[in-house]
Amino acid sequence: MKVRIKRIAAVLLCMALLCGAMSVCVFAADKYDGYPLAQADTLKGKIVILDAGHGIENSGGAEGYLESEFALAEVLFVKQNLENRGAVVYLTRSTENDVYTYARMSYANNLALDEVVKKYLAQLENGNADAQNNLDEIAGLQAELQTVIDDHSRDTLYYNTPYSMSSPIKDVLRRVFEYENTPEVYENMLFISIHSNADESGTASGTTVYYMSNSFADSQNYYTNYSNEQRKINLATWLGEAVSEAGGFRNRGLALNDFYMIREHNIPGALIETAFHSNAEDRAKLSDETYRKRIANAITFAIEDYFAYYKASETITPEPEITPEPTEEPEPFYKADLDADGFVSAADSLAVLKHAAHLKRLEGRALEEADVNRDGTVDSKDALMILQYVAKLIPAENEDTYEFPVVTEAPETETPGTETTETETPGTETTETETPETETTETETPGTETTETETPETVNPETEVPETEEISAPAA
Ligand SMILES: [Zn+2]
Repeated sequence: MKVRIKRIAAVLLCMALLCGAMSVCVFAADKYDGYPLAQADTLKGKIVILDAGHGIENSGGAEGYLESEFALAEVLFVKQNLENRGAVVYLTRSTENDVYTYARMSYANNLALDEVVKKYLAQLENGNADAQNNLDEIAGLQAELQTVIDDHSRDTLYYNTPYSMSSPIKDVLRRVFEYENTPEVYENMLFISIHSNADESGTASGTTVYYMSNSFADSQNYYTNYSNEQRKINLATWLGEAVSEAGGFRNRGLALNDFYMIREHNIPGALIETAFHSNAEDRAKLSDETYRKRIANAITFAIEDYFAYYKASETITPEPEITPEPTEEPEPFYKADLDADGFVSAADSLAVLKHAAHLKRLEGRALEEADVNRDGTVDSKDALMILQYVAKLIPAENEDTYEFPVVTEAPETETPGTETTETETPGTETTETETPETETTETETPGTETTETETPETVNPETEVPETEEISAPAA
């Protein structure tokens, strides 16, 4: 009898242990099962940028596990789910190879600006001519961001490198952030970076979701106008709850940090530290495809919850008005506004030509101000420079019909009594009225902003600062 009871107890114990061991892989069916998720249009019109973080050259890892491999597999699983739900998905890296941090950020920012462009194109079509100024400025910002993708050494022009939160944000990026604070971006886009965590002791475990907030930035000098903080908090909360539940991980909650992936753009987003690969139990799950798919479902659900919540609570947000930045006129041309009408125009060029022809003083303005090329004389070369400059301000579609002013000497005595008659020949008056619309976009003119391109390369790829999110994770 006693022996029999012992045997039954032993069998039960074995079964319990077996169940315990198997429970790592086998679940009672729950909502995180069943990958991929079925087709639906819950995310139609939404855009999600998924970032698989470090590539293989910068990967964390332990015991043969590679964070870079996990993150890539995970974003591919999530991508499939999101596409099944109708979203458009972009990946910042789609192979095991590293993509330079700031190239990934430029890529994301340019995708966001693409949405902003659509908004201003629509405004333009509705007859808002001012929208052209915004479009011109955005085109310039996108071109500059593209240079970071093309040439890593350009990152110092736009981003906070060499890294210091106490340095102010660069103007280009500040403007990008301001443009990104628009419903076209914050109501439709997300940026999500996926990682696995590590600590030295190997004891820490669980899920942490990071987001960027002004309460973090405020104590620093960096950009302090991140938008839509409550959206980020909700997104991070729901991601953390779903991922920890799907993975059976401890939910460590939200955390603030200034990781690149949540710092260098103003798109609602989060960085998920799924679990700790330095912890054996977490790592076993992170390595397991069944768990990876459950986590992918969890992330998808959190994204669906997020967009459903904001659709339901749809408050008509007043759009932030963005006026194109007043920019300083490029140096020589600033002084070339000889008739002081606020524009460097063809009329100014004509004034220089007249001077060159007659070597007489220009009315009311110092001669040297017309010396655009600074060669010591005011001559036809200066007039030519002004004309070329004005020509670039004429929209390409008007090029064929645009009439350059006929440079003729108006008889000086012909119209006594009116001021500044010398420069007011009929031919030039019409051109003056044609240019004001484009005059405010002068910074977009190719060739006038080349001074910044000579910044010496300060980031050596070998010494590139690694993303440090693992290091800063609090110990369990
Ligand atoms: Zn990482």
